[in-house]
This record gives sequence, structure tokens and C-alpha cells, in this order.
Amino acid sequence: MAFDYDDTNIFARILRGEIPCDKVAESDHALAFRDIRPQAPVHVLVIPKGRYVSFDDFAANASDAEIVDFMRLCARVCASEGVGLDDGNQGFRAIANTGPHGVQEVPHYHLHILGGRVMGPMLP
Ligand code: C5P
Repeated sequence: MAFDYDDTNIFARILRGEIPCDKVAESDHALAFRDIRPQAPVHVLVIPKGRYVSFDDFAANASDAEIVDFMRLCARVCASEGVGLDDGNQGFRAIANTGPHGVQEVPHYHLHILGGRVMGPMLP
């Protein structure tokens, strides 16, 4: 693990209700809210409610119930934001910046869901 979980990180504070967020959807184990610096017309962050620092931490250590719940919330967000292909829309990009090489800023796992425009090529 590149870093330990830090309870003072901004997403931990959002989950505790200490800082507001623009909530899109919520489930038993996950929360979705709009990124404060949107990079696309749709830019939603989906985070687990558990204390996981990164994608690999979540994938390795979350329970099956947490993982399924998280993924289902992502699907709900894609549908409600009008980017899910099941609804005949144009799709989206999902990104999990992970650790120093992934330039992850917030040490609480989050998935960026970006859509509403063509994303262009991935950065090197
Ligand atoms: O690089 P990383 O994937 O960690 O990006 C963290 C994201 O969290 C940024 O896109 C930033 O705009 C977002 N953020 C937010 N609300 C905050 C603090 C950060 O949406 N209060």
C-alpha cells in the first residue's frame, strides 16, 4: 500500500458530514457526488464508505457486498447522468488515479466517472 488511511482526508470528512458535497446518489456502502473541479459536463466521483485508500486496497480488501454495491451505484450514476450505454447514450470514461504514479491526490479510493463529451486520448 502506498499510504495508510488518513481519517483527516477530505473524502473521509465528506462521509462524516463535516464538509458538504453535491450528492448524486447513495447506497449502503457507497456515495456519489459531483467533482468540485469538473473536467467534463458529467464528472462524478463514486467512493466507498469504508476506509480504503486506493483502487487496489478496495479490490483486495473490501467485501463482495461492498464491491457489488459500489459497482451497482456506478451503474445507477451512469444511467441517471445520461451516459450509460444501456440507455442508448454515448458512454463515459471511468478512472481510478492510484498512488504517486497515478497522481492520486485524495487517499480515499474514488472512481471518476466522466462523460458528456468525447474524452480524447489517454494522457501518457
Ligand atoms: O487525483 P485524484 O483522483 O485524487 O483527484 C481527486 C479529485 O477530488 C479531484 O478531481 C478534485 O477536484 C476532487 N475533489 C472534490 N471535492 C473536494 C476535494 C477534491 O471533488 N472537496
